[in-house]
Amino acid sequence: MPLLMHCSDSPRLDAETLLITLLEQPRSYLFAHADELLSPLTLTEFADLIERRLLGEPVAYITGHKEFWSLDLRVSSATLVPRPETELLVEIALQQINVLSATSILDLGTGSGAVALAIASERPECKIIATDISAAALAVARSNAAHFRIKNVEFRTGNWTKPVASDKFQVIVSNPPYVEAGDPVLADLHREPLSALASGTDGLDDIRRLADECRAIIEPGGKLLLEHGSTQEESVADILQEHGWQNPRCFRDLAGLPRVSMAEWEQDPINNQ
Ligand code: GLN
Repeated sequence: MPLLMHCSDSPRLDAETLLITLLEQPRSYLFAHADELLSPLTLTEFADLIERRLLGEPVAYITGHKEFWSLDLRVSSATLVPRPETELLVEIALQQINVLSATSILDLGTGSGAVALAIASERPECKIIATDISAAALAVARSNAAHFRIKNVEFRTGNWTKPVASDKFQVIVSNPPYVEAGDPVLADLHREPLSALASGTDGLDDIRRLADECRAIIEPGGKLLLEHGSTQEESVADILQEHGWQNPRCFRDLAGLPRVSMAEWEQDPINNQ
């Protein structure tokens, strides 16, 4: 019989999460009722959920939600499952909002809305615009905003900076796709949208594009914050500098891996029109 340990790094946690979803109980229920037997019906339903997990479906797609920052976000197969390392992007964005006393924020490729909504929930005085090329992803993001009654995020559909071409921002954040096209990790992530994960042969196509396009919509003195792969620190710094961004620096995630790079724009925005 196939086991969850063959397809997941966290088999016990996955099984517990699926079971409490089915039982509609908090996790503590499992320990308080450790010797309770499941009814035959629950057992069959549980086996079905385990089967879906074995076939590679992320736990968050099966349960329909995922905790990110302090928000229990709704997710669907139209969106990337929010990753814990992306909380670093939120943390640095919040710091920079304070440093710059920024109020105009942009989140490019927002997916489920995780980053934009986390920032918005912490900084109600900021106006955040969040874009995504996928209308289906934005439907999920909008329902998350409504669920948490977050009113200071405006969602716009379109490719990267297209929907915000005539706006200017003090802080721009993005968790773009950055996995190399042939990376074997993509096989494990095959249930998630490839367009949110892979980005050309070196994984940097979208980062190059963001470094280019964001020059037209950044306020002088503004900051660009990009999540990237743990081996891309130097390439991202080079790309940022080649496009005129200054003082690139990289921050490490909780696993100690280079994960988010930041650079600033000191001149007037470039007129790309
Ligand atoms: N961190 C994700 C992963 O490798 C990739 C997310 C992304 O491409 N933005 O699982």
